[in-house]
Amino acid sequence: MRLDKYLADVTPYSRKDVKLLIKQKRVQVNEILAKTPKLQVDENADTVQVDGIAITYQALFYYEMNKPQDVVSATRDKFDATVLDLLQPDDFREDLFPVGRLDKDTTGLLILSNDGQLAHRILSPKKHVPKIYEALIAGEVTATDVKRFAQGIQLEDFLAQPAQLEIITFDAVANQTLIHVQIAEGKFHQVKRMFEAVDKAVVTLKRIQMGSLKLDEDLEPGAYRPLTSAELAALQ
Ligand code: URA
Repeated sequence: MRLDKYLADVTPYSRKDVKLLIKQKRVQVNEILAKTPKLQVDENADTVQVDGIAITYQALFYYEMNKPQDVVSATRDKFDATVLDLLQPDDFREDLFPVGRLDKDTTGLLILSNDGQLAHRILSPKKHVPKIYEALIAGEVTATDVKRFAQGIQLEDFLAQPAQLEIITFDAVANQTLIHVQIAEGKFHQVKRMFEAVDKAVVTLKRIQMGSLKLDEDLEPGAYRPLTSAELAALQ
């Protein structure tokens, strides 16, 4: 690939910036000063340096974020801050997107990546990648609700696949039940609508797992970190 694309892909520099860096004699390829942004480099064999620092090539990026409330899972929004607005300038890339959506008021595990194939694998209904949510539900969730979820629930526009609903605790004073629910799909407002179907309302909703990937509880709301290679391998 061209040298300017290589550097623009993996650094905050644009192709225009790279042209300037080259002019300023700050870029070396295999320890020889680069003279043109058009120079062809092999990302697996050549060494590229800027100001003497080696820049390794990485084309695909993967982060897990603990999405806070009040930001939207979108790349752009007219009214609200998006999850991409929470990235540090050095991590921001135009091609990053959230892998699947969480509602504005839903918190928890969100993958950000520029890998469309991974997104397809995780989100395709045919792949049945389980998503686990923790929720506070108004009122007492009962064994009957657990059975209804296990049978699959008919919503207005589709039949939600059987879901595993687990009652964690019922707080009689607050009259709220803490639950975990595992669903196979990811339709719009799915968890909220499944509870509505059994006449219950979701008070708070947090995604805690997608496939093998668990929310890193050390991440404060709004914080994010790169996925480790083991986490990424387990998601493939
Ligand atoms: N189900 C919902 O209702 N909302 C979400 O954000 C995710 C799943």
